[in-house]
Amino acid sequence: MERPRVLIVGGGFAGVECARGLERGLPAREAEITLVTPHNYSLYLPLLPQVAAGVLTPQSIAPSLRRMLHRTRIVPGGVVGIDTADKVCLVRLIDNEVVSIRYDRLVLTPGSVTRTFDIPGLTEHARGMKTLAEAAYVRDHVISQLDIAAACSNEEERAARLQFVVVGGGYAGTETVAYLQRLTGAAARRYPRLDPSLIKWHLIDIAPKLMPELGDRLGAKAMELLKKRGTEISLGVSVSEVTEDTVRFTDGRLLPCRTLIWTAGVTASPLIGTLGAETVRGRLAVSPDLTVPGFPEVLACGDAAAVPDLSKEDGDAICAPTAQHAQRQGKQAARNVIAALRGQQLTPYEHKDLGLVVDLGGIDAVSKPLGYELAGLPAQAVARSYHLMALHTGVARFRTVANWLINATAGDDFVRTGFLSRQPATLRDFERTDVYLSPEDVRKQMAEGKAG
Ligand SMILES: Cc1cc2nc3c(=O)[nH]c(=O)nc-3n(C[C@H](O)[C@H](O)[C@H](O)COP(=O)(O)OP(=O)(O)OC[C@H]3O[C@@H](n4cnc5c(N)ncnc54)[C@H](O)[C@@H]3O)c2cc1C
Repeated sequence: MERPRVLIVGGGFAGVECARGLERGLPAREAEITLVTPHNYSLYLPLLPQVAAGVLTPQSIAPSLRRMLHRTRIVPGGVVGIDTADKVCLVRLIDNEVVSIRYDRLVLTPGSVTRTFDIPGLTEHARGMKTLAEAAYVRDHVISQLDIAAACSNEEERAARLQFVVVGGGYAGTETVAYLQRLTGAAARRYPRLDPSLIKWHLIDIAPKLMPELGDRLGAKAMELLKKRGTEISLGVSVSEVTEDTVRFTDGRLLPCRTLIWTAGVTASPLIGTLGAETVRGRLAVSPDLTVPGFPEVLACGDAAAVPDLSKEDGDAICAPTAQHAQRQGKQAARNVIAALRGQQLTPYEHKDLGLVVDLGGIDAVSKPLGYELAGLPAQAVARSYHLMALHTGVARFRTVANWLINATAGDDFVRTGFLSRQPATLRDFERTDVYLSPEDVRKQMAEGKAG
């Protein structure tokens, strides 16, 4: 007898937890599990800034899916279109071949992409911090600015190459500026020709506070730490124009600069927009049991979905796009797929936020576990223990600890890998936001036999 086919789209926090939950909860005879994902690892995004700074190697935060999943069929590619009427997805494999995959239950966890705005020059010149390739690119780019500046005889150009701008005062931007500033701060030892006082990092955000979810005291503490290290923080300010060698701020300042790192929020994967279903602030509207209204065989969770936050009194609250929620929602999605296959009642997703950890490098951190406000070494201990627990495999944990120890004892290295130096490397290139099809296009391609 044919087994029901469960198809999961996206191998991030939510998708992998869902696949693991299904493997654990369903005997092989009860369902066939397929995961479509462009990468064969599950990326632990919270530690990306540490990869950009070279504190961690990329493998440390990219545990292999082959270690985590044992009987899930892993299809290497991305879903580019979904026809929910015919229950079929079109998948572009990593070699560009397009194939179709049919499903009985679909779990959508394609996550999010960097949110950009209509700012002239932004998508051409800004760099993101959302993928392993982006982190590797940013690292190469920052070190190349140090290398060029050290070799350059034009004073103006040297100063411009040593100005760095990070937009976004959430945890991604704050950790990115903290780690990269520490890296360039350590450059004085290896670049004796460079005047360290010329190296300047700017962190800007349109909001009036850094990481408001931390509360006033810890937010102010994080800001004080960054300022003490020399980071210039501008709040209530954004970017109005970017060119290859300048960044203009909305307060009128024009900064000669070759580096703009954009971490000003995320928006759901463009795949969500192709469904024609209801969305809430761009995320797919779902019921508390994670099913998509009007599409009972489809569930969605993680950054891509607007999951009602039942722990809040405000009835319209939705869960924040965090790894913590995505992981737990993935587990809940697995439980509900199993319940649906067995004709049982689905249960709602309920989770009280455990708090936030923000690693600022070295012994500096702020964190708020279960509402307790911590700063300095205790906060760092909590942050790093949390990351180690959340990393999926023992080998990833071991690599991470070993890298932390190596960095703490041997310091930073300023090596460019050069892998990405000849690519255009814009936000769009990295996050492939322009490849999606509508359900009509999916049907057309199927009818024309274009999908294998
Ligand atoms: C720099 C940074 C730091 C962060 N720090 C923290 C933190 O400290 N704490 C915290 O809780 N959260 C943090 N977050 C947020 C957290 O990483 C996200 O909320 C979390 O990754 C969401 O999980 P997800 O499974 O929904 O999506 P993701 O983990 O992004 O996974 C989505 C997966 O889907 C794949 N995919 C995308 N499109 C398709 C497609 N069409 N077909 C198939 N597969 C597809 C992607 O390649 C990816 O593997 C951080 C994010 C960033 C960028």
